[in-house]
Amino acid sequence: MELFFNAQLVLALRKHHAANALIVALNSSSLFTLALRGGLLIKLACAEFCQKTDLLDRALKAAEGGLERLIFFHANNRHLEFHPVKKWWQGTHKYRELKAFWQVTNPQPPNPAPSSIGDTQKSLVVLGIETSCDETGVALVRLEPRPLKVGQDQTPATGTILSQALHSQIALHAAYGGVVPELASRDHVIRLAPFAKQALKDASLTWSDVDLIAYTEGPGLAGALLVGASLAQGLGYACGKPVIGVHHLEGHLLSPLLEPDAKTLVFPFLALLVSGGHTQLMQVDGLGRYTMLGETIDDAAGEAFDKSAQLLGLGYPGGPEIGKWAVTGNASRFDLPRPLAKRPTLDFSFAGLKTAVLTHVQKLKAMHALDDQARADMAASVQAAIVDVLMNKTERAITETRIQQLVVAGGVGANLMLRARLKQLQQDGRCRVIFPAPSLCTDNGVMIAWAGGLRALSREQGAHAGPFTVRPRWPLDQV
Ligand code: ADP
Ligand code: MG
Repeated sequence: MELFFNAQLVLALRKHHAANALIVALNSSSLFTLALRGGLLIKLACAEFCQKTDLLDRALKAAEGGLERLIFFHANNRHLEFHPVKKWWQGTHKYRELKAFWQVTNPQPPNPAPSSIGDTQKSLVVLGIETSCDETGVALVRLEPRPLKVGQDQTPATGTILSQALHSQIALHAAYGGVVPELASRDHVIRLAPFAKQALKDASLTWSDVDLIAYTEGPGLAGALLVGASLAQGLGYACGKPVIGVHHLEGHLLSPLLEPDAKTLVFPFLALLVSGGHTQLMQVDGLGRYTMLGETIDDAAGEAFDKSAQLLGLGYPGGPEIGKWAVTGNASRFDLPRPLAKRPTLDFSFAGLKTAVLTHVQKLKAMHALDDQARADMAASVQAAIVDVLMNKTERAITETRIQQLVVAGGVGANLMLRARLKQLQQDGRCRVIFPAPSLCTDNGVMIAWAGGLRALSREQGAHAGPFTVRPRWPLDQV
């Protein structure tokens, strides 16, 4: 089966049976997509459509006059009567011989709703798609529903990873010292569909074995999210499978529950979410019942690692680099701040740390003293400061909530010093700590499949915006 990237086009192509129709999908930001039934031609271009009609001209030329219809459809049904393309079309004589059909659509794919997954006794195979930032992840996860013990609030299933394909774009963005959104989207476009096929092959499954398709709906980079949303909705439509949008952080938050030793974990528990974009302490009372206890008021912990590494001239991403350099460093050489440490809040702050590192690095450079030992000492000092801040607030949350179970998620959760300090907390009898495997700490498709499957099984779709919608900004306590 072919995988189509734009489900709306697939819908429009099916609806207009003409073999030789050219479909022009417009959206509000003058991007447009062309598709020719028969040989599917998809182009994305940023153009002033009405002023520069070359792309349309060329597409018509490429069709060698074999066209009889031109169908414009607009995914957003506001003000189409006044749409500049419609005005332009009515005013031009150039394409007179072509019949134009205007279609205002917000097509709802006729795939079943996730809530249709009714039989909770049956196992569920979920395809998970993650494209929120700089990792392309696709995975197949099988969920086995389990009978819940009365009085215990547990997840409604256990999970097994059947296969996964994961690509990190680190090398692509390394030269820029951070993620370039446009490059990220383009790379997802190239990799995603082959990854979906690969994951299926590796699990020795066919499309008919998949019960549900889950994709990251947000938060993240808008363009990157759209790539995943389009594939998920297109596949759902083509295979007649339900599709569910997942909150990226909910994926991170629930991923530790895939670990074998988490099978006995009961709600409520605390979650420390520490990634490149987020630093949050949440209280998890059940699926979709999340309360924000504290979050960063400026930079995220991962960002603090990344920016410090950049200032020291170390590689990208900064977290693993700082971790490596810190091994031979002296953490007490540089006195770095622990912002908000003494304040009675569960919020975090890391911006002051970055400024302090910058000041030290400038001084060292002025003295020609930024050698490898200084780099290692600074790396060790930065790591100690970030881990101290995270530990301080985590311990405070345990004391304040009296909840003695903690799951750790997000890329920074792979940091060895943080893991050691949290394990110590467990040994001291303060709290049970559950980490996802380091490979599941950074973004991946497994956590999206798992979170989507749990949602479907609990018949809790959450407040999702519907097909073809992504949410670049989406607070976790609003799912
Ligand atoms: P995002 O959702 O922002 O992409 P991820 O969950 O993929 O976040 O994690 C990426 C972040 O984790 C980066 O900021 C990176 O520096 C950090 N990170 C990864 N490994 C480590 C580590 N071993 N120690 C500290 N930080 C790490
Ligand atoms: Mg990432």
